[in-house]
Amino acid sequence: MKPHVAILPSPGMGHIIPFFELAKRLVTHHGFHVSLLVITTGASAAQTQLLHSSMLPDGLSIVDLPPVDVSGLVNDDMGLVTRLCLIARESIKSLPSLLIDIPRLTALVVDPFCSDAFNVADELGIPKYSFFTASAALLAFLLHLPTLDREVEGEYVDLPEPVQVPGCKPIPIHDLLDQVRNRKIEEYRWLLQHARRLPMAQGILVNTCEDLEPVSLRALGELQQIPTPPVYPVGPLIIEEDSNKPSEIECLTWLDMQPPDSVLFVSFGSGGTLSAEQLTELAWGLELSQQRFIWVARKPAVDAKASGAFFNVGGEHNNPREYLPDGFLKRTHGVGLVVPSWAPQVEVLSHASTGGFLSHCGWNSTLESIVHGVPIVAWPLYAEQRTNATMLVEDVGVAVRAEREPEKGVVGREEIERVVRLVMDGEEGKAMRSRVKELQKSAVESLNEGGSSYNSLSQVAKEWKSRV
Ligand code: UDP
Repeated sequence: MKPHVAILPSPGMGHIIPFFELAKRLVTHHGFHVSLLVITTGASAAQTQLLHSSMLPDGLSIVDLPPVDVSGLVNDDMGLVTRLCLIARESIKSLPSLLIDIPRLTALVVDPFCSDAFNVADELGIPKYSFFTASAALLAFLLHLPTLDREVEGEYVDLPEPVQVPGCKPIPIHDLLDQVRNRKIEEYRWLLQHARRLPMAQGILVNTCEDLEPVSLRALGELQQIPTPPVYPVGPLIIEEDSNKPSEIECLTWLDMQPPDSVLFVSFGSGGTLSAEQLTELAWGLELSQQRFIWVARKPAVDAKASGAFFNVGGEHNNPREYLPDGFLKRTHGVGLVVPSWAPQVEVLSHASTGGFLSHCGWNSTLESIVHGVPIVAWPLYAEQRTNATMLVEDVGVAVRAEREPEKGVVGREEIERVVRLVMDGEEGKAMRSRVKELQKSAVESLNEGGSSYNSLSQVAKEWKSRV
């Protein structure tokens, strides 16, 4: 009988997807049986579809945690992290009864927001690991956060200098994570609580690779400048293209008819939503650029900052005619395609006609763009996306940033026209495309047998097996 690993992502496609891919690799390359434990409360339609309609390899089981009633605990005014942590905390209560009967269970791997599950691993006497689905730079920041919390008085946003995480690139104050911009809010307390628990893991897997984040990984690894358990870069783990996807999906057949590298894909992740004003500017900017595009459009949010409503995506009524500028769809007919709510992103990015990605720079979108060799217009919205954008522009050189107008806080139509043309049509765009192709090659190689990420996961797998 194979050794068994149980893994537990927190809700949201940005977490579920890399955990799902990790599970598949553990099963197919490293000989484990894996139970992917799924928090079902508030699950999106996209999540259910991914996990329950995909062909699963032998040895991978999807285990749904019983839904929990959080109506008295969670409300729409809460921040995303608070909601997520509360749902995770309640859902995890059913974990002991699910895990106790699994034979040859050798490790429990959990998302950092599910760190309450460490106690369950302790009770069962199995090692506990974390899988961090964002960047090594953010991991380093979170591991350093308890120190900052002790040493800094007042708000981090009032510090006169960028925040220095030992061994890492300083973080400009304006790039700081939303959740740490006000230390009095609940979001900050939840983040800090889970950050404090991160070092309790026996090891931390992280969805990145050596060539993408050499500096942060060195700080976490050989330099040990931040006290941490062993860190294993095992990425980039991104969703695989689905060869069974129906070929008649409109945006894919539309892409088939476009010239190579000619289409800009515009998407803000699983929950990113713009204000009405910003949406109008984006529509005009795309039109002015005269470039081909596919745009995953969402209904504008009243409070666009509270935008990451990933729980709601899919089900709501969304008719782009109701909120796009008058005549936009008609004028851009043939040049652009507007897709409401959701598109098969990886299939779009891997298509030969796609030549650019206007992205919110969520970590998964970042990795997917790199793995498919597509340069980026960086348009961060919230969470740690500003740091990801800065890294892509300044360190990796595969993106240009769309700058907001300081007075209005929106990215204006001329700026959008400029950055879209630059990536799709300019010399700078060509240089970015060739850099991202190089990075694509090394990222893919790191996952192949003998590559750095493959070896990293093999090392953890060996440790787990040695327990059997
Ligand atoms: N995604 C998709 N279609 C969409 C929007 C998102 O397939 O229309 C997928 C995307 O490929 C990525 C994930 O959802 O794997 C979003 O994760 P990311 O970390 O980029 O952003 P988040 O949703 O966490 O803000």
